[in-house]
Order: sequence, then C-alpha cells, then structure tokens
Amino acid sequence: MLLRKLAAAIVAALAVLGVQAVTAAPATAAPRILYYDASQAQEFRAVVTQGAQIWNSRVANVRLEPVPAGRTPNIRVYADNGWPRAYTSSLGNGSWYMGRQAVNQGYYQPRIAAHEFGHLLGLPDRRTGLCADLMSGSSAPVSCTNPNPNAREATTVNNNFATAVTARPQTFTWAGAAA
Ligand SMILES: [Zn+2]
Repeated sequence: MLLRKLAAAIVAALAVLGVQAVTAAPATAAPRILYYDASQAQEFRAVVTQGAQIWNSRVANVRLEPVPAGRTPNIRVYADNGWPRAYTSSLGNGSWYMGRQAVNQGYYQPRIAAHEFGHLLGLPDRRTGLCADLMSGSSAPVSCTNPNPNAREATTVNNNFATAVTARPQTFTWAGAAA
C-alpha cells in the first residue's frame, strides 16, 4: 500500500514536470528464455523439470526451457551429496546442485528444485521459517511441501526480468556453512 502511494506520488510529481511515466504496466514483450541443462542432475532430472514448470506457471517475463541440442545452457544443474546450493554468475546464469544431504533429511524435492531455480532468477535466501515462502528454504520445517513461490517472490522475479536488473555473482547454500 505504501509503495502504491509512493508510486502514485512519483507519477503525480512527474506529471507536474511534464514527464510521462508508465505505471506498472504488465510486460507485453516476449518472455526471456533461459535454457537449463538437467542432463547431469542424475536421479533428479524429473524434479528439475518440475521446478522449472513451477516457475513457468507463475511468472510471465521469463521462461525456463530444456536446452536444445547444440546450444549453451544458461543454467546447469548437478547433483551431489552436499547441501542443495546455487552459484549465480549473473541474473539467469549459473548453476545449482540438487544436494542429497537435504533430500536424505526429508526435504521436499520439488521445493528444493524450485527454490534453487529461484536463486538463478534473482531471489536471495530469506530464512523466515515460513512454509508459504519458497525462499525460506531449509528454515521452513522439513515437513513443508510447498514448492511454489509466493506472490511477492513471483512479482520480484517478474520485475527482475522486466527491467533486466544486474546481479552480482553469489553463492547460496540450502543450510549450514557456505559452500
Ligand atoms: Zn537458498
């Protein structure tokens, strides 16, 4: 609400200055396509696809697609025995790991996959402990089976790809010490 009022105030101020401002228009451009390569995700290939589809069903400005043959992927997905984690080189580019340490503790696999894709889409960890938040990651109970971004998380991703914000290289780890 506060943001809306602030935005309205800015638009009003710009109007006074004779500047035309576009207010929160929905993006009409084609979504940005990010290609992911799940070929090295071992037993998790299907859940990687599921994580991509979750995002595709909830955001309009970016799409996660399996990488076609002969094309360099934006995102490579791996699997190992550590914590799930993501390495971003820039917005939409990098890699993430499906880590068996979390899987073996019982964390819900589609939630892990969607969460790690979330980092590649520009979302940081927010360890709120809430199952309703996708980016709360391991701070939500192991029993949490919500694999979906909340409205704020989806909006942030849409905004990231509407405005092409830059993201500095970062590493995010599901739990424990940074990898
Ligand atoms: Zn995370």
